[in-house]
Order: sequence, then structure tokens, then C-alpha cells
Amino acid sequence: MCASFNNLFSVPTDRERSRALGDTYQLPDSIRRAVTVGINECFLPFPIPNEGDWVTINQERGQTVEAFERTIQTIPHGKVPSLENISEFSSHFFPGCRLETLPQIDFTDLPKNSRMGQRIDTYTKKPQYSATLIIDHLKKMKRRQRKNDTEELFCIGVTMADIYPYSSWNFVYGLASTIDGIAIYSFARLDPSFPDIELVGPCTEQERILILKRAISVFVHEIIHLFGIKHCIYYLCLMNGAETEVEMDGQPLYLCPICLRKMYTATGKDRKIFNPVETYHDILDACQKFHFKDEAAWYENRLNILTTLTNE
Ligand SMILES: [Zn+2]
Ligand SMILES: [Zn+2]
Repeated sequence: MCASFNNLFSVPTDRERSRALGDTYQLPDSIRRAVTVGINECFLPFPIPNEGDWVTINQERGQTVEAFERTIQTIPHGKVPSLENISEFSSHFFPGCRLETLPQIDFTDLPKNSRMGQRIDTYTKKPQYSATLIIDHLKKMKRRQRKNDTEELFCIGVTMADIYPYSSWNFVYGLASTIDGIAIYSFARLDPSFPDIELVGPCTEQERILILKRAISVFVHEIIHLFGIKHCIYYLCLMNGAETEVEMDGQPLYLCPICLRKMYTATGKDRKIFNPVETYHDILDACQKFHFKDEAAWYENRLNILTTLTNE
């Protein structure tokens, strides 16, 4: 092996280190804190090397997290929008309600005859699962494990697998049993590269934001349905029906006055906990945190109007 002294190595600057770490806003709270809080108190920067040290002999350019993520083999789950982020954002729409994340269920672990109607979709050639069987499964679980919990309103399953409602349908975004307060939603088709998720590789920042926004919008829309609120035809509204992802992207991430008033009746009227200005502030903060620029601008403007204009 031939070794030569490499004068070109220079210790990364603060800026280079932070570029190597990348954007952390989408990380779960515990991880984000672990990589951003009190860093200077606990970690020393890479030292200036002595002649003969590894980096003076071997050319090391450094690998950013982003570069690393580009190289790892991607699986569909690599693009899963974080359930923690979805819950955090969505909870602001339901003041006074607590969102609890239940343990994950792996259907592929179950015996073949109880794999939730697994089949291969003829169009996408991808596995799909029966939404009705998943709802039945969640119903049994709810009865068995949670029967003493009188506070529980709804149980919502989310999956990155594609689902179908009946054998004659080719897919569905979600299915709900409003009487049981149980629903299942698939985020599989919210990915712009569906069904070729594995082939396309990791998504760009823009796509990541889009997938998260779609997931939140589907999640909140569908929970609001579970309260008995139907599709909205009065304004451009989060509760408008959407047939395609394109139509979904046209829906705003806010409720029109009519649907907002329905939510007031459904969640806060009796308990006097429904305060739209506070809710809007919380949603605005969440929009800024997740880089939903247009939505943040809408909430900011709405708050300005609500806090400065007098009654019409
Ligand atoms: Zn709907
Ligand atoms: Zn509406």
C-alpha cells in the first residue's frame, strides 16, 4: 500500500457539520433532541490531525446524512410519513381529545389464511390487503383490549400497504365503520412515485413535505368523518371530497366556517374548550415546523383578520 501525506484535509467548520447533519425538523422528537440539543457541551469537534493520523494519509471527504440516505437501499417503508408528526399536527384539530399511538401490527407475520385477504393487484402487481378484514380485526382488538376505556372515541389504523374494500374494487384510500368508530387508511398511494416506490429511491425534500401533508390531510379529514361530518360543498374546505391525489392537493388544510362550526358542536360546545384563535395558533406553529408554507400563510392571515377586524 502506498501512503502519502495529505495536506488537503481540513477540519469541517460548524457550518459544514450542520450541513452534514441536515434538516432535522422531520425527525421524531427524541431523535431530533439527541442530535441538536446541548451539542457543544457534550461533543468535541474533530481534532486537528497530527502528521501520520488516518485522515492525513487516507482521503476522507466526509459523508453527509443526505449522501448516506441516497446510497442506502430503499424499501417502501423508507418513505413512511412519521406517525408521530401526523398525530402531533392532527391533534390541534381536535382540542380536548388525546391521540394515542397503539402498537404496530405486522400482518405478514400471521398465518397465510389470516393475512387480511392478501392479494396481488393486477394493475400495480403489488400486494393489497382487505380493508374490511382489517376493520374486523381492529374491532376485535378494541373489544378485547380496550373495553374498560369509556373515553375512547375512535380507533384508526394506518398502513403503508395498499388496501381494497371489496373483491371487485381495485383499491381504496380508506374505509370507516362509523358505528364502531373504527377506520383504516392507507398512505400507499399518497407517494407520488406509487407504485414504483422502491425503484425511484429516496424522495426529495419537496416530496417528503407533500407526502406528509397528504397524510395529515387524509388523516384529519377521515377522523372528522368519524364524528359524523359529511363532505362539504359550501366552500373550498378540508372536508371536500377528493377522487384523486391531484384533487386532494387542491384541498386546503383548514375547515370552512360551516365545518368549523360542526366541529365546535362535535368536540367543544359542552366542554367550552373550543377556541378557534388558540387552535389556529397551534396549527400555524405546526405548519411552520413542517414547512407547509402556503398553509402557514393562510393561518397567519386568518389570525390577523380575526384579531384585528370587528364583527361583520
Ligand atoms: Zn371524505
Ligand atoms: Zn366545509
